[in-house]
Amino acid sequence: MKRFLYDLDRYDWSRYVQEKDLPPYRAGQIASWSDRGVASLDEMTDLPQALREQLAEDFTLDGLELAEKQTSGLDDTAKYIFRLADGNIIESVRMHYKYGWSVCISSQAGCRMGCTFCASTGSGFGRSLTDGEMLAQVHAIARDCSSRIGHVTIMGIGEPLDNYAAVVRFLRRANDPRGLNISMRHLSVSTCGLVPKMIEFTDEGLPVTLSVSLHAPNDTIRRQLMPIARQYPYDSLLAACRRHTEKTGRRITFEYALFNGVNDQLEHADELAGRLRGMLCHVNLIPANEFSGGAYRQSRSPDVQRFLSRLTRSGIKATVRRELGADIMAACGQLRRRKEACRTP
Ligand code: SAH
Repeated sequence: MKRFLYDLDRYDWSRYVQEKDLPPYRAGQIASWSDRGVASLDEMTDLPQALREQLAEDFTLDGLELAEKQTSGLDDTAKYIFRLADGNIIESVRMHYKYGWSVCISSQAGCRMGCTFCASTGSGFGRSLTDGEMLAQVHAIARDCSSRIGHVTIMGIGEPLDNYAAVVRFLRRANDPRGLNISMRHLSVSTCGLVPKMIEFTDEGLPVTLSVSLHAPNDTIRRQLMPIARQYPYDSLLAACRRHTEKTGRRITFEYALFNGVNDQLEHADELAGRLRGMLCHVNLIPANEFSGGAYRQSRSPDVQRFLSRLTRSGIKATVRRELGADIMAACGQLRRRKEACRTP
């Protein structure tokens, strides 16, 4: 199968031109097209026809195709459904904030983590995405809205730290001034808490925002919601978070989805405040999003408010996350993977 052109970074391109006995400056030219999100080889007008033909033999630009776009009637949110070359279907979300466009991308087709409240788990695991497929989601959306994308969160389908190497490559490439040029501070990674990978990620020294899906004040509730909690207990997770803030000086965002009657009572807020006291962190409360077949119900709005004020009165910085794109199933935890019959190449 031909390689997806976006999967090669600048280093890979210099190796390619060397192998093909081409002048070294060709590598920079091809990489610049790729960095800018070229949609067709014909756009590469500064390359000779023979080289474009050579590229067409070795590479494809059909690694990510827009299958469908849904636009919210409530806000400026749009959900993009993309088909990968092997028929896997993934979803990405574009949101509009005061500070500009933000895109939430998928890092895997499906997810292996098995969180009991998340729609991404239901359809099984296909495979991890390449860095090129992650970049392509951002380029396709930028092209569609004819705007620069200023923020990217890796919070769509999949567990980014379960696709570690490609995610790190993606972050470096998305940050490259010759490419998407997104500041590291505007890139965020969300993890369900793969402790050893979090430690490795801290040592990578990338000043991106790290979000940790906590969703519980203790091991008992966390294990009920997230199988990963059986492997990495609460204390080891918080120790990895503390290590991250100490080494990077950057605060951690804790995601806490509120499920009616499960983790949204005052006693839970008190216990959570006790665990997080003194940490450099912010708690993002997410009224749980429902989806068909999901077992949990969203917390009632007065419970959400009581939980929030109890946390803040205990000195923990917290906010309730605005729900965007709920009418098109584009909110947190509502994205799914699907699989189509493989297309013949
Ligand atoms: N695997 C990563 C990133 C993907 S999920 C992670 O676990 O962090 C993005 C966020 O949506 C996570 O915080 C996840 O726990 C949350 N989420 C999943 N299902 C949800 C639901 N039904 N309601 C609210 N948030 C949900």
